[in-house]
Amino acid sequence: MSLIDPQLKAILVCPTCHGDLEEDDAKGVLRCQNDGTEFPVRDGIPIMLVDDAKPTGEG
Ligand SMILES: [Zn+2]
Repeated sequence: MSLIDPQLKAILVCPTCHGDLEEDDAKGVLRCQNDGTEFPVRDGIPIMLVDDAKPTGEG
């Protein structure tokens, strides 16, 4: 079970640091593996807006 199309995920990177993203099925978000920024996924569409993202406050 994937939040988004695997082919779509494969081309997505974090808009702020261009790091790889990982899916968090439990939270329904994509998370940057580099800086931990989370991006919400709505109806299978990742919302890659920095304004919507929730930085962890680290780094
Ligand atoms: Zn990032």
